[in-house]
Amino acid sequence: MSGLSGRARLAGVIGWPIGHSRSPLLHGHWLDRYRIDGAYLPLAVPPDRLEAALRGLPALGFRGCNVTVPHKVAVAALVDQLDPVAERIGAVNTVTVAADGSLAGSNTDAFGFVANLDDGAAGWRDGVSTALVIGAGGAARAVLVALLDAGVPAIRIANRTAEKATALAAEFGPDRIAAVPWAERHEAAAGAGLLVNASSLGMTGQPALEFDLAALPAEATVTDLVYDPLRTPLLAAAAARGNRIVDGLGMLLHQARPGFAAWFGVEPTVDAALRRAVLAG
Ligand code: NAP
Repeated sequence: MSGLSGRARLAGVIGWPIGHSRSPLLHGHWLDRYRIDGAYLPLAVPPDRLEAALRGLPALGFRGCNVTVPHKVAVAALVDQLDPVAERIGAVNTVTVAADGSLAGSNTDAFGFVANLDDGAAGWRDGVSTALVIGAGGAARAVLVALLDAGVPAIRIANRTAEKATALAAEFGPDRIAAVPWAERHEAAAGAGLLVNASSLGMTGQPALEFDLAALPAEATVTDLVYDPLRTPLLAAAAARGNRIVDGLGMLLHQARPGFAAWFGVEPTVDAALRRAVLAG
């Protein structure tokens, strides 16, 4: 970051706390790779300073920012324009400062989810008449929007707290989304071409997702949004029985692309060098 000029392009990630975020490493790698006069900073912003911090972005010359835990939902209510995908997901992870200083909010998690599958499981859509999603939190909302927009005809969703799955099915369309009881998640894999773990189970420090894969077709793709560890117990079990697997790191990398392009003016590429840099950080 040394050698920044007075015209350096600035962006960052707003969260509380922010020390865990890999976004500075990820954007920093691209800034170096494309030799951009710019910086991407971790911005620790407590909830009671969120609005002031966002409103300060244009005055400080920031092009925008990413938004992470716990601010994604709150920012959706604070931006001046909300794009349709962010509105459906109900959360913002990317803010862009417009020429007039207004703030545009978008959500690139659904884009990142699909781009990761396209990267790691080319042609994944072809055989998917049904997908099974585990979890009904913020990440699951982005996955549902992504799968609906990708044209997956039928989606089953199972969550420990059944009411949250039922509410998502009702909100996003019971014609294509069906909630299944948590205890029946294993059988719900029958006929599924795609299994998605969008819960936090399997993450370091959390219990593993208990899932009997016996009913899942051999040709199904299995993907996990958890990327710490990279190979979750679910992915390990799926790989062992021959299913195609896609880890969650690529979603994190791909979701960063639209923000970087908007703030720094270069369409960045996700590749092995970026994965190594982010994993080493
Ligand atoms: P969230 O809103 O807090 O939702 C957590 C989900 O996990 C809920 O469905 C919750 O079920 C379920 N869960 C948690 N503990 C459980 C347990 N012991 N037994 C059963 N279910 C349990 O979190 P989120 O934002 O959706 O994120 C979910 C995961 O996705 C996190 O690990 C996050 O790091 C990851 N993620 C990855 C990316 C990426 O780019 N790869 C992007 C976004 C999120 P209940 O509703 O019953 O509590």
